[in-house]
Amino acid sequence: MEINHGKVVIAAASNKSASLMKEVFCKYCNKKFSSYQALGGHHNSHKAEREQKNKTKFLARLLLIIKNHLLIQIMLMLMGMVAKH
Ligand SMILES: [Zn+2]
Repeated sequence: MEINHGKVVIAAASNKSASLMKEVFCKYCNKKFSSYQALGGHHNSHKAEREQKNKTKFLARLLLIIKNHLLIQIMLMLMGMVAKH
């Protein structure tokens, strides 16, 4: 009985603290929102923005790695050809 009672109290306390915070701000652009739900939806747009940027960055880095790798391969091939002769 005591354990069940404790659970109820914890649930009620967390609900209370969630409803107390009515104004939330976007940490990216400081825009004000009335609820965490609204902020969450807004955050998704920032997330999509960031992911797109990261994707572009990642692709650029990957291309650079491939380019460097190819250069090394070509150099090794040329060196191998030189060594053979
Ligand atoms: Zn924002």
